[in-house]
Amino acid sequence: QEEVFKKLIAHCKEYGFVFPSSEIYDGLGAVYDYGQNGVELKNNIKRYWWDSMVLLNENVVGIDAAIFMHPTTWKASGHVDAFNDPLIDNKDSKKRYRADVLIEELLAKYDDKIEKEVEKAAKRFGASFDAGLFRQTNPRVLEHQSKRDEIHTRFVKALNENDLAELKQIILDYEIVCPISGTKNWTDVRQFNLMFSTEMGSTADGAMKIYLRPETAQGIFVNYLNVQKTGRMKIPFGIAQIGKAFRNEIVARQFIFRMREFEQMEMQFFVRPGSELQWFKQWKETRLKWHKALGLGDHKYRFHDHDKLAHYANAATDIEFEMPFGFKEVEGIHSRTDFDLSSHEKYSGKSIKYFDPELNESYTPFVIETSIGVDRMFLSIMAAAYTEEVLEGGETRVVLKLPSALAPVKLAVLPLVKKDGLPEKAREIMNNLKFEFKCQYDEKDSIGKRYRRQDAIGTPYCVTIDHETLTDNAVTLRDRDTMLQERIPIDKLPEIVSNKVSM
Ligand code: ATP
Repeated sequence: QEEVFKKLIAHCKEYGFVFPSSEIYDGLGAVYDYGQNGVELKNNIKRYWWDSMVLLNENVVGIDAAIFMHPTTWKASGHVDAFNDPLIDNKDSKKRYRADVLIEELLAKYDDKIEKEVEKAAKRFGASFDAGLFRQTNPRVLEHQSKRDEIHTRFVKALNENDLAELKQIILDYEIVCPISGTKNWTDVRQFNLMFSTEMGSTADGAMKIYLRPETAQGIFVNYLNVQKTGRMKIPFGIAQIGKAFRNEIVARQFIFRMREFEQMEMQFFVRPGSELQWFKQWKETRLKWHKALGLGDHKYRFHDHDKLAHYANAATDIEFEMPFGFKEVEGIHSRTDFDLSSHEKYSGKSIKYFDPELNESYTPFVIETSIGVDRMFLSIMAAAYTEEVLEGGETRVVLKLPSALAPVKLAVLPLVKKDGLPEKAREIMNNLKFEFKCQYDEKDSIGKRYRRQDAIGTPYCVTIDHETLTDNAVTLRDRDTMLQERIPIDKLPEIVSNKVSM
């Protein structure tokens, strides 16, 4: 799996999807740039999300708030005091780790051990094997499970009580070693704030310290009454936003999974107090359906309900996707109570209550939030799409089986040869179609090589213009996934391609 992930990262670079930031200066940790194909895929993901939120839901509207916000915002939101990661250093390797991540990796090891036992037994006993019963009775599985439970209970308690000494103790008790040095020589656990700060303006009193937003949500909270009043919105209603967020992540690994500058697509849904858990349940289902509709494989998703709730939440779950390095969060769904709005009310001294005409009373709405990272979604789609196929004759082709609607290029237009009027005919076709969807013209190299290049960027269709085209006005249409070729009249092209690539 690690091999596959490495290949995927190399592929992203080679085909203009993702480049390390400032690569000529050897890059900048956990910051990445999107290339010519990456930006198209990313824009298509954003449009897919935006349309499903803002076009489909009459009661959801969008905004675009600034990245810079008044510094008190982050006092009120709790980020100045509580947006911390617990860090630990290994004294030998001088490497820094997140204590919670080290412990989560330990828990995952026990899960793996259990799964291995189950798989082994399943192979041995075949069709009559009852995995559920095996888990409940096999002594080795039970032993791993009880160890896992013991660590898990201590871990959750330590997190909830913010007990840094106990986090370190767990690392010592279970002899977690540094992946680099292999030693158990750890420092104490310290808290580290994840917000980037900078200075704004320069006045006689000095500059004002401000933060780069670590989440887009607060831009929605501070605007919620502006939108409600000017849009005459009635509860329940939602506000959606796509924008950059910044976190000084310490464990910056796994390519674009954990970045220091990334993009979020968030929707805050404002509801009557008391109805939040029902809405939470509904958004949970809606969001999972949305993911599955992409067709990457239903078995690649699962929910992970939180044991430890953030300071603002009364229910929370993650939608996890099976990445090349295991199931990982792509989207968080949180019931944020009235924490944020009440807190902004308190810090700003302004009333931001909603008057409910049906109940004839004013209250602070409760909030359900759906929050997804564009970059993580991008990674999940690339990971699911990346396929190596061995063809007849032993050659392998690399093909990105992207959902057609998200593919950077929808149609490649390829004259068979660079002469005899074929390029001119191809240009004519291209000019007719390029306003409907993204087309790419390519006349260089053999047709086989050109097909491979389009496979590698996930183009659903290629059309080839040959000598007969000049007389029969038909072209050969090749399907990316089946590689089947079909002769079709040129005037059928727009409809065929549109049907395949529309959302
Ligand atoms: P994690 O536990 O992985 O750090 P989180 O729980 O802190 O994530 P949230 O604060 O819930 O994440 O953010 C919502 C979404 O934003 C996440 O589901 C993820 O898709 C995205 N996200 C958060 N941090 C990053 C990051 N550093 N790089 C890329 N995407 C991120």
